[in-house]
Amino acid sequence: MERNYLLLTPGPLSTSETVRKAMLQDWCTWDKDYNEGIVTPLRHDLLGIAGLDESEYTTVLLQGSGTYCVEATIGATVRPQDKLLILANGAYGKRMAQIADYYHINYVMVSLSETELVTGEVAREALEANPDVTHLSMVHSETTTGLLNRIEEVSEVIRGRGITFIVDAMSSFAGVPIDVKGLGIDFLVSSANKCIQGVPGFGFIIAKKDKMLATKGNARSLSLDIYAQWETMEKGHGKWRFTSPTHVVRAFYQAMQELKAEGGIAARHRRYAENHRVLVDGMRELGFQTLLSDDKQGCIITSFYYPEADFDFTDFYNRLKAKGFVIYPGKISDADTFRIGNIGDIYPDDIRRLLQAIREVRS
Ligand SMILES: *Cc1c(COP(=O)(O)O)cnc(C)c1O
Repeated sequence: MERNYLLLTPGPLSTSETVRKAMLQDWCTWDKDYNEGIVTPLRHDLLGIAGLDESEYTTVLLQGSGTYCVEATIGATVRPQDKLLILANGAYGKRMAQIADYYHINYVMVSLSETELVTGEVAREALEANPDVTHLSMVHSETTTGLLNRIEEVSEVIRGRGITFIVDAMSSFAGVPIDVKGLGIDFLVSSANKCIQGVPGFGFIIAKKDKMLATKGNARSLSLDIYAQWETMEKGHGKWRFTSPTHVVRAFYQAMQELKAEGGIAARHRRYAENHRVLVDGMRELGFQTLLSDDKQGCIITSFYYPEADFDFTDFYNRLKAKGFVIYPGKISDADTFRIGNIGDIYPDDIRRLLQAIREVRS
């Protein structure tokens, strides 16, 4: 079926026709065709593409959007006697603090400006001021702007301090190589509709196995209890506790095969990086400026300043949409920007067609 338009957005994003077609069958949630044939191989592959060993790491899938998994992870790991440090520089980092507020979690948030990187230095200073911190959470690719935060530097700073490291890698996992084990990430959170290129409906958590086991009895929400969900999946060979989004999971299974066929995370990263390069070069040629300097920018999504003070974004958006491209409004407070995503079933030639469409709309 022909596409309505290309989504140049950071999820839901454009999926392949084969991923969409994979949803044309119905599946029974307690039958082994589904649990053993789809869910279990998926859990296996999630660790496989991340280069993790099943004796040390495990994974759990959870209904809902990505935020449900971030909330489930924070809610089940940070106990009343613990203290959480949140290093934030955008809407998704701040959302972690909202979650902590709802759970009455003892936390401190370092809130940087939206164009400032979370670095090792930021982590070091925060830990000096808060030596009693037991958990640290941060966003890797801050989709608010497109910043790629320095999880490697933060990992260096917390190494050996017994701090549980939680990373929201929602928009980067599978699109940017992440050495989960080398970085000592205890919980990595992502979702079906980002770089693995599935459709929305569930998220997943990759966790150090001993840390997952230690969450037993901690959750303050039944449906977000990651330990209970994990235990049911383990014992039930891929069974979910409550109704699982079967069509979405089957589509994700197809998306996983396509990721592996593309050459895994390294190959996907090369494609996204090329999309990003073609986009930024072309946009600069057309007179647009990026919000971020190149050293802070990731390849997932790019923010551009409005080209002139009286720029009519809605008009620009509607004209591009009429030409088959859906872009994203900006999400930051102190500058007028819009965003263009580079992820999904999108190739450099799609970006070249987009640039041509922008040229036409602007002339
Ligand atoms: C997409 C995204 C989320 C999850 O957002 P949902 O709307 O719940 O899917 C969380 N963090 C980041 C960095 C994201 O890009």
